[in-house]
Amino acid sequence: MKSAPDLHGKKIVVVGLALTGIAVAKFCAKRGARVVVTDGKPADKLADQMRQLDGVPITWELGGHDEHTFTSADLVVMSPGVPTLPEMRAARAAGVEVIAEIELAYRFLDPGAALLAITGTNGKSTTTALTGKLCEASGRPTFCGGNLGNMAMIDAVDHPANVPGGLVVVEVAAFMLENCSTFRAKVGILTNVTEDHLDRFGTMERYAEIKGRIWDFQHPDDFAIANAADPWTMRETRAIPSQLMTFDSRPFAPAGFASLTPPAGALLPGAHGAVMSGDRKHIVLRLPGSAETEPYPVDDLVIVGNHNMENAMCAYLAARSVGVSVDAVRAGARAYRPLPHRMELVGDRANLYYYDDSKGTNVASVAASVRGFPRPLVLIAGGVDKGGSYEPMLEALDGVCKGIVLIGKAAPLIREAAASHRVAYPVIDATDMHDAVRRATELCTAGDAVVLSPACASYDMFQNFGHRGRVFREAVAAVGAKRLDV
Ligand code: ADP
Repeated sequence: MKSAPDLHGKKIVVVGLALTGIAVAKFCAKRGARVVVTDGKPADKLADQMRQLDGVPITWELGGHDEHTFTSADLVVMSPGVPTLPEMRAARAAGVEVIAEIELAYRFLDPGAALLAITGTNGKSTTTALTGKLCEASGRPTFCGGNLGNMAMIDAVDHPANVPGGLVVVEVAAFMLENCSTFRAKVGILTNVTEDHLDRFGTMERYAEIKGRIWDFQHPDDFAIANAADPWTMRETRAIPSQLMTFDSRPFAPAGFASLTPPAGALLPGAHGAVMSGDRKHIVLRLPGSAETEPYPVDDLVIVGNHNMENAMCAYLAARSVGVSVDAVRAGARAYRPLPHRMELVGDRANLYYYDDSKGTNVASVAASVRGFPRPLVLIAGGVDKGGSYEPMLEALDGVCKGIVLIGKAAPLIREAAASHRVAYPVIDATDMHDAVRRATELCTAGDAVVLSPACASYDMFQNFGHRGRVFREAVAAVGAKRLDV
């Protein structure tokens, strides 16, 4: 049985001063720790963040890091997104524990609260938010956060959900799993592993291995949920300590629930997880310990697309595994609304439609969004390249794309990939988002769509994907489109 650590009098170095770092600093100071906050940025760039810690006793070390601060600490806590620093290695070499914020939060969770952790290249936020909704519908105290929204996982510790029977649902990024040593999820979901962040992890093997750590510290009575159709994910399920459930959205031959029989099924007799019914009108679950199947109507959900069916399968399996009733799952599913910047229809101009998919930050997510898109589209793409191939995106665009307008640093790479793919449509450059929306609009005729789904990170031109989406909306309004607040 774990017991919460005593931070009183401990020297704790918090690395990275953004939302998570602020929450961790407050948390540790409240528990009597001596807190040092360090960030590579200088103080004048962090004034807003520092203000949020007014009145909290903090020693500041900004504009760089001092190795001695790390090596003399009792504990170093990393915020998400902080790169691996030489000072972290020095701390470890000196015997100092260096952990992610989620690991610290985990150590303070009540052993009777169920932790549901979600990671994967794509679908994390949607799966987390939907799982949270299903859990809330059960009436049990529920925390939903992590990488998602404005709540770091550390905020779960003082949340009403941190009690026996409570449900703590968190989105977890690979960067955080890298620095975990005991983080045990009752339910660990890995949605998929496709090319992303290779700039940081180097190889797919390494990236998949880090994602697979979501299951490393589980016990036999915990659950692992994995994508049967994704070889990188399945590779990580070998030798996991927990009970495996798989999900598979691929169509199977026979109609109805008979689809639970082979050939391609993930739910072979005796196996557990989720598939689509043969008519694709239901998501069908079979839970560990049960021979029965449970059908859930797809019509309960407003989110559409194959990828969202996968997200829903994960959420349903997770919620059911921790005892959320069938009725609560269905009520939560009906109450769920999509998150912003995920294929959001934001403008309409004389029968021309503008979609904000600024959260399409890698090739696989853009491919999932545009494959089989119901109208011809012009894509706005580009930003900071992630080191993978653009081919899956170009292949998904075949047959629906009328042109690509490029922004940001990755423009030459995408142009080159489009040339090798021998696209028949124009691929043109734009100077900024306003220019891109104007040019994309010129390439369209009535009935077409302009889709911002960049396949890249945003930070060459924007603060984050949310900022990029907001500038897109301004640019859409500037070309005279009617604003649609959905
Ligand atoms: P994340 O938090 O992992 O970035 P989101 O739920 O925010 O995931 O979705 C981001 C984008 O990824 C969506 O706009 C959609 O295009 C795509 N996407 C969502 N779910 C999946 C999935 N299960 N598989 C592939 N792509 C997905």
